Amino acid sequence: MTRIDGHTILIGLMAYPIRHSMSPTMHNTAFEALGLNYAYLAFDIDGPQLADGVKALRTLDMRGANISMPNKQAILPHLDQLDQSAELTGAVNTVVNDDGVLTGYTTDGIGFVNDMKKKGHDVKGKKVLVVGAGGAGIPIAAQSAIEGAVEIRVANRQDDHLQNAKDIAQTINDKTDAVASTLALEDEEAFKEALAWADIYVDATGVGMKPLEGKSLVENPTWLKKDLVVYDTVYAPRTTKLMEVAKDAGLQAVYNGLGMMIEQGAAAFKLWTGQDMPIDKVEAAMV
Ligand code: NAD
Repeated sequence: MTRIDGHTILIGLMAYPIRHSMSPTMHNTAFEALGLNYAYLAFDIDGPQLADGVKALRTLDMRGANISMPNKQAILPHLDQLDQSAELTGAVNTVVNDDGVLTGYTTDGIGFVNDMKKKGHDVKGKKVLVVGAGGAGIPIAAQSAIEGAVEIRVANRQDDHLQNAKDIAQTINDKTDAVASTLALEDEEAFKEALAWADIYVDATGVGMKPLEGKSLVENPTWLKKDLVVYDTVYAPRTTKLMEVAKDAGLQAVYNGLGMMIEQGAAAFKLWTGQDMPIDKVEAAMV
């Protein structure tokens, strides 16, 4: 790559396993398109190496990093400060290095909210039902609260993530103006009632992608009212069973998670460079 020279600024991705990630393609395409002298590289870093990885951020004067599993929670004590997105979720996927001061953010929820805005749906003032309380559902619930959703319900099946749902609901109630509660997915009547109550329904479970491709938590179109906005965080396949059910029910606003994935990267890109990611060029490089 001819654009790399002695002034090139490094941004890293620290996770394990990570070699499959599309993030290097995403960010390097954007740097090249804008003529920015940055390079983005993936590093296999897990638990025991994390402290050294963070040290390298300072030593190499890197501009920042993306952080993925298994480091998203473990990195918190190594950072100097947290943005509200990271404070509420207790997780970090983006670090920004400002002259040695490391700030942690979680941009997944920002990506969701920004993608929704681009599609004409501001979460402000809305009632949001999120199913799933993992790496996607928690930041979506938290950022919806930060951005002014009035009420949020987090649904989860009765597995070890149900406690996560309760914890994020408690945090939202304690630290934002939004009101949050939880429900167990096994309570079909409560789930149907929540679907009737919500303005926006987000599936953040991964049901609909492999190995659960062709499956949906909502199989019956009559459970979905016409003006409900349906957002499936899955982006492979591009059309999930939930989206098919929603379209069969006559809903107009039905989306996959591709926009969230790109916008979470765009939010990190903006934090590092101050520039808007050229999304058209990035999308073209990622097909
Ligand atoms: P995770 O494992 O951290 O959490 C999964 C959640 O879904 C848990 O709450 C779990 O209880 C629930 N769940 C799992 N299987 C279920 C089932 N069969 N029925 C009901 N609930 C079930 O996973 P994650 O990282 O939050 O990812 C979830 C989905 O979101 C995946 O499809 C992933 O691809 C997608 N995702 C998309 C983006 C994006 O940018 N679009 C970002 C992150 C994750």
